Amino acid sequence: MSDTIEKIKCLIIGSGPAGYTAAIYAARANMKPVLYQGTQPGGQLTTTNEVENFPGYPEGITGPEMMMELQKQAERFETDVRDGWVTKVDFSGDVHKVWVNETKEIHCDTVIISTGASAKYLGLDSEQKYLKLGGGVSACAVCDGFFYRNQEVVIVGAGDSACEEAHYLSKLCKKVTMLVRRDEFRASKIMAARVKNTENIEILFNTETDEVLGDGQVVTGVRVFNNQTNEKHEIPATGFFVAIGHKPNTDIFKGFLELDETGYIVNVPGTSKTNIEGVFVSGDAADHVYRQAVTAAGTGCMAALDAERWLAAKDSTFEVSTSTYN
Ligand code: NDP
Repeated sequence: MSDTIEKIKCLIIGSGPAGYTAAIYAARANMKPVLYQGTQPGGQLTTTNEVENFPGYPEGITGPEMMMELQKQAERFETDVRDGWVTKVDFSGDVHKVWVNETKEIHCDTVIISTGASAKYLGLDSEQKYLKLGGGVSACAVCDGFFYRNQEVVIVGAGDSACEEAHYLSKLCKKVTMLVRRDEFRASKIMAARVKNTENIEILFNTETDEVLGDGQVVTGVRVFNNQTNEKHEIPATGFFVAIGHKPNTDIFKGFLELDETGYIVNVPGTSKTNIEGVFVSGDAADHVYRQAVTAAGTGCMAALDAERWLAAKDSTFEVSTSTYN
């Protein structure tokens, strides 16, 4: 148990583009935000290679670089950026209670949730076994592709992420086999065309993973099956990449916040407000439609402005800053 309870005006949970943008706005509005980075400081963008679609970077920027710049910008206005993982919340009373790393208790006037989403896996025993062993299963080509230089790898998925990652891997690996479970891509036409036109990417449609094969330590191949004919065959590979989407990181809010059937936090349309007064949401934790860095940043801004106005309405000593509305 914690011996001292910290009281703060504004807690931001998560350190992706949503969290840092909320921090920049909240700090400039004199809310003295405290931001907990979570287990993946910088969020999902730190696992992305080149970001070419964030306005203001005509030549593109790497995800990690962009997140470092956002952190610097938030700290410039004295956001208190901390290491730590929010493990529990209690939003049942007037005071919003939050626990960090199980022990530290914080009482917050406002909370901005920017916890994002995490990569999904297929759930096969063999996939999980080699994932836990660190033996060749990964959900992040940009993080791990380097280890498979000049080797043969398999990637599952047919969305924009899978295409982006397959293309990234094709530059490092001898061969990339892409498993698409339907007879078409979900990805945008331009991304799908890019993989189709890459010589060392082979696309197998109507194909799913039966088992990740290995020698007990590392991956040696993948047994796949055609879901139309049920025919199976083995593909030699040292790496098995999974790019099949993400799950929102919202488990700790269950029972307090309204979530949709897939776990995304439900916000009041057109705002960042949740069903709990003083608790706001931004970024991918509430967005299963757009899921872009720039939309996450936009909703981070909305959350900070909504929190500031909420605080001003509750606390007559707190003044709404004019700077944020200029
Ligand atoms: P998506 O949800 O768009 O795609 C997931 C893919 O994984 C689908 O093709 C789906 O197949 C497949 N899949 C899901 N479960 C399984 C399974 N069990 N076995 C085999 N395949 C499976 O996720 P993404 O992460 O690709 O993209 C998320 C969002 O981010 C999208 O809006 C995307 O546009 C955006 N994005 C944009 C980028 C960019 O513009 N640079 C880069 C990356 C993402 P099926 O199609 O059959 O359902």
